[in-house]
Amino acid sequence: MLGDDDTARAYRPVDRLAWLFLDFNAYFASVEQHDEPALRGRPVIVAPLRSEHTGAIAASYEAKAYGVKRGTKVRDARRLCPGIAVRPARHDRYVEMHKVLMAEVERHLPLGKIYSIDEAAFRLSRSERDRAKAIATARRIKQALAENVGPALRASIGLAPSRLLAKLAAERVKPDGLTALELSDLPGKLADMPLTDIPGVGPGVAARLARAGVHDFVSLWDLQPKRARAIWGSVMGERFWYALHGYEVPEEPTKKSMIGHSRVLSRDYETAAAARIVARALLLKAASRLRHYGLHAGALSLMIRQRPEGRWEGGRRFACSQDSFGFLTALDDLWTDYLRNRGADGADGDGARIGGVTVYLHALARTGEARLAQRDLFSDAAGKEGDCRRARLWRAIDLINADPEAKFRRLGAPLPSATAQSSKPKRYVTLASQTGLDLNYLGAKIAFSRVPEEAEFLY
Ligand SMILES: [Mg+2]
Repeated sequence: MLGDDDTARAYRPVDRLAWLFLDFNAYFASVEQHDEPALRGRPVIVAPLRSEHTGAIAASYEAKAYGVKRGTKVRDARRLCPGIAVRPARHDRYVEMHKVLMAEVERHLPLGKIYSIDEAAFRLSRSERDRAKAIATARRIKQALAENVGPALRASIGLAPSRLLAKLAAERVKPDGLTALELSDLPGKLADMPLTDIPGVGPGVAARLARAGVHDFVSLWDLQPKRARAIWGSVMGERFWYALHGYEVPEEPTKKSMIGHSRVLSRDYETAAAARIVARALLLKAASRLRHYGLHAGALSLMIRQRPEGRWEGGRRFACSQDSFGFLTALDDLWTDYLRNRGADGADGDGARIGGVTVYLHALARTGEARLAQRDLFSDAAGKEGDCRRARLWRAIDLINADPEAKFRRLGAPLPSATAQSSKPKRYVTLASQTGLDLNYLGAKIAFSRVPEEAEFLY
């Protein structure tokens, strides 16, 4: 455990532009424009499903000019911008292009960290960190992307001493921006930035800051590190302060950003009712791993791939938890959303088959951080108490499922014969709907290689 002063000493101040942050603009829509040159310079949206009632997951800048943005329903987008091109999402293609783009940038700079499918931080070498050289490098990267990959895939670039500041710099000018932020530019150059636009300042932290009288960037900047720690209620506040002030804050080494499972469904499981049971089983499995790692989750995402084509994704946020019942409720909620969406169109109606499901838990926190978040989110003590009790119950179930023999021995009970005969681990405690469902036989596993769209941004 680090003492107060050790924590501060672990961070190194960086005075120059050590990081280049790359944020691709309207990424999914840009990939569509890249692949279909006739769409370049035209309003385009990407929709998760072939449905007029679904919300766009990306809008090109030409579409944004008409007031169409992420989340705008396809039907409304057509009204705002007659003739707008609507393309179904092709996530595999976006991942493929992500790899091409990263490989191109890596010819110039070493990759520091990928944050999401369209955001990554790269490290500048010591000799490239002054303003003129860093800007020249950024321009070279933009030019290489345009010439070697394609002019439709534009990115906003931020240069700064820390990854957090570089990300904020990249946010400044969109699309195709290039912004350098040195410590001498601060806090002035970010004075108008809303606090909730800053990664690490969620609604809970923003409320705490407001109670402490911090309402804008300049007063956030003026805090002392110890004060930030007190406001956050944890060392996270201090880590944030150092990242904001240009210090290189080492990342927590083993921090996971998500836990998930995915299955391609065999023909037996391609109806919505059967696929839902598979999704629930995958979620229970992910939740068990979550508890095994001593983590809590604050969000759940569901992705559904339809046959012959079409894809839907949705997510829910909730108070940090380890409770599988709560996760299942959120999943059911998402499932209802999905059914409503696909049912809205005749073509996508009841006949639709499901080819694959992916479920993942994210917004992960360790127990201490989770407790802090719960204090914010559970206004009633009873809700929090209930969550803890259910989490304890699930940990007991995990134990029984992990090592049934030990448990039966401890109880002095005879060992069920299945354990003796089968070499394969069997789950002893399951929910009624899961009985007879063996995840190993559902079909091929999908390598969990998709870059998450809403990856947690850690500084
Ligand atoms: Mg972007």
